Amino acid sequence: MKMSGSAPDARPSAKLDRAVIFLGPPGAGKGTQAQDLARRYGVPHLSTGDMLRENIAKGTPLGAKAKPLMERGELVPDSLVLKMVAARIERPDCSHGFVFDGFPRTVAQAQYLGELLKQHGFRQPVVIHFAIDPALLMRRITGRRMCKVGGEIYNVFERPPKLQGKCDYDGGELEQRPDDREEVVAPRLQAYQKQTAPLVAYYRRLGRLREVDAAKSVDEVARRVLEVVDGTR
Ligand SMILES: [Zn+2]
Repeated sequence: MKMSGSAPDARPSAKLDRAVIFLGPPGAGKGTQAQDLARRYGVPHLSTGDMLRENIAKGTPLGAKAKPLMERGELVPDSLVLKMVAARIERPDCSHGFVFDGFPRTVAQAQYLGELLKQHGFRQPVVIHFAIDPALLMRRITGRRMCKVGGEIYNVFERPPKLQGKCDYDGGELEQRPDDREEVVAPRLQAYQKQTAPLVAYYRRLGRLREVDAAKSVDEVARRVLEVVDGTR
């Protein structure tokens, strides 16, 4: 079942020629929006998780350093992540810009990225901040249920099934993913707020921050993202 309505026009209206950074809490829908924007402009959608996996799969020197750390469940140090980012944006597919999803996470990373962009002759980035009331975000995530049969998505608060616990289409049992439970979500959201607040303040000071109301529908958010990207010089 399709949840997102009509997809935005795939033809780019113009070249992106810059970095767009998506900032927002987990569950606010920024991943989908970042992917759609990247597809629309024909630029790469970059996440450090994908970069790490790619470096490991290809057996690059950076991947060889990261692999044992990840296998032991340790954090990959910032220096390694930054080297990976620097190598990635030098590749030719990034020459017309790119979309960053989940990076930078700290002010130090943001400063480093700013330097890299300057070195490569990019304009200042557009930073799109997905703002959403934490209580609403909590309901969206913890209310989510998925049909075990057809994968249909419901929300017990916003989009409940006609019969409690049963899929409207096939009567399948609805279940909650373990990651969507309140005791898992609450600490993740708190950690995000704590880590990201200084980053939001940093980009706001630089005049790069653009707010998007992430409580709106997927289509409305998509329109607002385009408006911001096309309208920011
Ligand atoms: Zn179903």
